Amino acid sequence: MVIDKAKTITRGRQTKILATLGPASDTKDMIRDLFVAGVDNFRLNFSHGAHDDHRKRLEMIRAVEKEFSASIGVVADMQGPKLRVGRFKDGKIALKEGMVIRFDLDETPGDETRVNLPHPEIIGAVNVGDMLLIDDGKVRVEIIEKGTDYLDVKVVAGQKLSNNKGVNVPGVILPIAALTDKDRKDLSAALDMGVDWIAQSFVQRPEDVAEARKLIAGRAGLIAKIEKPAALETFDEILDHVDAIMLARGDLGVEIPPEDVPAVQKQIVRRVRQAGKPIIIATQMLESMIESPAPTRAEASDVATAVYDGTDSVMLSAETAAGAYPLEAVAIMDRICHRTEADDHYLEKMEAEELRIKEDASDAISAAAHEVAKNIGAACIINYTSSGSTTLRSARLRPSVPILSLSHNLATARRMSLSYGVYSLLVEDVHNTDGALERAKEIVLQHGIAEKGQRLVLTAGVPFGTPGSTNLLRVAWVN
Ligand code: PGA
Ligand code: MN
Repeated sequence: MVIDKAKTITRGRQTKILATLGPASDTKDMIRDLFVAGVDNFRLNFSHGAHDDHRKRLEMIRAVEKEFSASIGVVADMQGPKLRVGRFKDGKIALKEGMVIRFDLDETPGDETRVNLPHPEIIGAVNVGDMLLIDDGKVRVEIIEKGTDYLDVKVVAGQKLSNNKGVNVPGVILPIAALTDKDRKDLSAALDMGVDWIAQSFVQRPEDVAEARKLIAGRAGLIAKIEKPAALETFDEILDHVDAIMLARGDLGVEIPPEDVPAVQKQIVRRVRQAGKPIIIATQMLESMIESPAPTRAEASDVATAVYDGTDSVMLSAETAAGAYPLEAVAIMDRICHRTEADDHYLEKMEAEELRIKEDASDAISAAAHEVAKNIGAACIINYTSSGSTTLRSARLRPSVPILSLSHNLATARRMSLSYGVYSLLVEDVHNTDGALERAKEIVLQHGIAEKGQRLVLTAGVPFGTPGSTNLLRVAWVN
């Protein structure tokens, strides 16, 4: 594929694409093609694969990043305390509605009369009348009797149950550690590899993110995956303690009724945007493309809805990790984002959101830069930033022009890539406003972000090099 390397830095769209790597996308050429097709950031799924697989993938991503002088964020997704049933003598059992079965702690393979449920914490926490959802909700059983080491359940729905299927216990806060031993090992390996983000699964309470936060110690950003109903109840507090949110609709859609998912999605996007942190909408976006070269109309609408909701990123899971059409999935997702952002109604929606401005100079200047850029029809907004905090405040406003985030800090540049409209570049230190402006003009021309005769709006902190000091707004012609 022949492409113009200089122009790939912005993609003519503001919504970002995060794609999961796996066996279907394991070569340098494939990762390069995915990037060219529109992937802005990559996800390594630690539920599958060995550390070595992930390390190799990360090295290939970094090679592509270097080739295109891009800033690519890499998310390491931790498996978390995924609950599962045990094994069966024949690998599976047939189920019938109304059938009564015992779930117990005995690790002997199960049969039609009893099933191994190797989780005393579930048995301890549930009550008679609660439901267990198994195999993504395909099997539903109601608890009719509870002992100290067993549950008797009645099958409400489902045809069969096979080895190691996942168990969800909606509406019950389980007394389980937020990070498993595997998560701790994976987290430490991921940080050693140099990933930019750690995503923590099945967060239930604000306390759950504290340990991950401590282990990460600033070496990566922390993403809370929202996939438990309990997390919705204390969502604002969880949001306070993390750097980004992933709405993990796969597990969430099992734990809460499907009809609740769209309204929850809109609520969560609004609250995360208000906080000025990136939000990722994940799972089943183009699910049928695991096997088919074109999406269903409903899937195209789902991606568009996430864009209309104002998400920062949309995510692909098995579509790119294990599907037959990874490049086609990225290409169509890219086209849906473009097309939706081109709708007049979309811009109105982005503008309609009322955002509270914090009482500090940096926030006020970001808001002013957004207004000025709109009023004069500037080609882009440029932030010089060391921590990225000004860029996050700009992204939250959902401007219709790209935000060029220039940082001398590589970790910041990579982390900003998840955010709406942000294209980040690593730049050498600048020492004064004139120098910063000259450098910015060179960059926008070189990357085709603006043409001569257009204007740009620049924010920075003077004196240069002091974090959190944004105090300057400049309008300049590109000449
Ligand atoms: P998973 O998370 O793919 O790690 O399960 C995403 C989800 O549950 O939606
Ligand atoms: Mn999940």
